[in-house]
Amino acid sequence: MSDNKKEEGLMEKIVSLCKRRGFIYQGSEIYGGLAGTWDYGPLGVALKRNIINLWWKRFVEEKEDMYGVDAAILMNPKVWDSSGHVSGFSDPLTECDKCKKRFRADTLENKEKCGECGGKLGGERQFNMMFKTNAGATEDESSVVYLRPETAGGMFVNFKNVVDSFHPRLPFGTAQTGKAFRNEIAPRDFIFRAREFEQMEIEYFVKPLEWENAFEKFRLAMKGWIKEVGIKEENVYELEVGDGDRAHYSKRTIDFEFDFPFGRKELYGLAYRTDFDLTAHSKGSGTDLSYYDEETKERYVPHVIEPSFGVERTVLAVLTSAYTEDNLGGETRVYLKLSPSIAPVIVAVFPLLKNKPELIEKAREVYTNLKKVIPRVAWDDNGNIGKRYRRQDEIGTPFCVTIDFDTLEDGTVTIRNRDNGEQERVLITELENKISSAIGN
Ligand code: ATP
Repeated sequence: MSDNKKEEGLMEKIVSLCKRRGFIYQGSEIYGGLAGTWDYGPLGVALKRNIINLWWKRFVEEKEDMYGVDAAILMNPKVWDSSGHVSGFSDPLTECDKCKKRFRADTLENKEKCGECGGKLGGERQFNMMFKTNAGATEDESSVVYLRPETAGGMFVNFKNVVDSFHPRLPFGTAQTGKAFRNEIAPRDFIFRAREFEQMEIEYFVKPLEWENAFEKFRLAMKGWIKEVGIKEENVYELEVGDGDRAHYSKRTIDFEFDFPFGRKELYGLAYRTDFDLTAHSKGSGTDLSYYDEETKERYVPHVIEPSFGVERTVLAVLTSAYTEDNLGGETRVYLKLSPSIAPVIVAVFPLLKNKPELIEKAREVYTNLKKVIPRVAWDDNGNIGKRYRRQDEIGTPFCVTIDFDTLEDGTVTIRNRDNGEQERVLITELENKISSAIGN
């Protein structure tokens, strides 16, 4: 691991900052929590939304060949029969004979002895990770539905709808962001392995012989995204998943792994899934999901490339990459070096003193005008300037603007840069341009 990531206790520091500053709280905290669930506070929800919006902009809005969908979370259970989730979406479970604690068997070093009480571990059995519930007033097998374990299913099921409405030429893709649910045996590592999380996924449909180009295109696009969102590239590794470890239908899979504070783990996946999904849903639903190619006058089932991004793992990799401790002006400080494109606050505006109406009035004017043109502007007049800087550093605000007595005389303000602490005097009239160019607006 590189530079500050060597530091012990980084995870605890990130978790504590997230709670203290209103990014992420334990789910249902006042009731003692609910394992594997997390609640986002005002800054966390801003960070998460900025990430999802930026992803949508890059992978959907800016493209000519991408179609967004937003399918229902509850789907006909036959969807998950066809996809293989009902029969095969499971992890091996083992239970201690003595304390009855359950573990995911494939993650244990000692598969015989309980790590908690030393008791004997029982045999392994497969545990399906889909959450089951009932739709409607009858609570029997006939009304069973599942909370979707991934967003992908909704896109395959809507393949024909998109083709019939838009008549896209291959290659083209559908994209979806939203919640997914997995009854993980052992949720752990903060938001890394949760039971409720969000995904950003693409199903990119191609002619069968053209999958390699599309795979490479998305491999590069994923690398570009990783850099843009502010995940340290030097801590990301592409793992070519070997023949024995890939899903049976996948001809090639890359896991993008990241050095999280608790080890190197999967961040994103990129898989070539052949025609497995559309063929399976054609069979399962009885609806023909083949595609008529106007150019070659042939009908065939498109193949698919699936880039899959987890939102929570993005948030955690971004926070791990951004968390920095340094020494500024003889003082230790903690700051989040977040990219302005996703920082919850881009600029904070301060009046130098709280009890001077003329300063407040001017600062309010600057704040209101900036808010009209720059997204995510905050107001802060609590405590002294030094404290305000530290507070904004800790939440990753790239710029702070202070209105002082000189402002009233000459129309200039100080703008302070988070990363080096440098302050510059600029005219209010230049402020918008200065910040816009720094954030690449
Ligand atoms: P893992 O091996 O870590 O369980 P996976 O291979 O099952 O992950 P996929 O099914 O490929 O994951 O899901 C796609 C993406 O969704 C992952 O790359 C990850 O970013 C995210 N993801 C999957 N499971 C979880 C989870 N329990 N909590 C948070 N994010 C998740």
